[in-house]
Amino acid sequence: MGSLLDGKVVAARIQQGVAADVESLQRARGVTPTLAVVLSGEDPGSKIYVGRKRQTAKSLGVQTRDHIFPEGLSEGETIALIQELNEDKEVHGILVQLPLPKGVNESRILDAIEPVKDVDGFHPENLGRLMVGNPTVVPCTPGGVLAILDHYEIELSGRIAVVVGRSRIVGKPVAQLLLGRHATVIMAHSRTPNLASITRLADVLVVAIGRPRLIGARYVKSGAVVIDVGINRLPDGTLTGDVDFLDAAGVSAAITPVPGGVGPTTVAMLMRNTVRACQQQIGD
Ligand code: NAD
Repeated sequence: MGSLLDGKVVAARIQQGVAADVESLQRARGVTPTLAVVLSGEDPGSKIYVGRKRQTAKSLGVQTRDHIFPEGLSEGETIALIQELNEDKEVHGILVQLPLPKGVNESRILDAIEPVKDVDGFHPENLGRLMVGNPTVVPCTPGGVLAILDHYEIELSGRIAVVVGRSRIVGKPVAQLLLGRHATVIMAHSRTPNLASITRLADVLVVAIGRPRLIGARYVKSGAVVIDVGINRLPDGTLTGDVDFLDAAGVSAAITPVPGGVGPTTVAMLMRNTVRACQQQIGD
């Protein structure tokens, strides 16, 4: 049975550092890091995520400003709001919770956020910096994946890492980060034939596909480290990952649970990015 990679422990460690930074910003500069949260539409998952982010922010002394529109904003209205927040000197970070309502082009919205306030790290300029190996901000979930691997001292240099999923927000940046750590990185996705033959090459397997429990033991090499990014709600309301935890745990050396794995580290990284954005903007 693989050992458990506990995201809550890793998140707590990151949050300790964030709380100390918030305290010193307030003491030395009289500034409270402030995150504007934009929630447009009524996605049930988004409401839960935003609630969690707000609660963590509060516990660390990070201020949040809510911009909540249950009826949904149009693309033009969303861009106008982002422009307003870009100009607002009291706002250091802008979080636009995804998914956005139908008909709103996510790419155009993310591109409208001022890169220095882009605490999710999805702006093309920030993703470009990550690609050239000189990031100013790392997307939260990929940053959380790396934080878990680092906390548990999992060797990456020279090892084979397989990333399943190639989204802008998870798969692609995770692959870049692993490459930056000198792993040999293979990316697999929905058009990869015979997926198990690829994933079984992995010393480190990162799965971000949004398919409940798809990745069972037959996809995992004996002794591999498995990071499950997936968060899926089953019809009975329970949360589960993209990995069949009990099955895969039987062959892996170490594995993240869902919930309690990558999720908590994502929120912690968002807080860290907000504080760093604040430090950058006030020239600290
Ligand atoms: P997405 O839908 O944007 O991308 C999914 C990717 O998986 C695509 O690249 C697709 O090619 C690939 N894929 C889909 N089905 C596949 C299959 N059968 N075999 C191989 N590849 C397949 O999703 P996303 O935004 O990257 O999110 C992925 C998962 O991670 C979701 O479950 C999401 O809820 C979760 N997520 C978790 C966090 C967190 O904080 N833990 C953050 C973001 C996303």
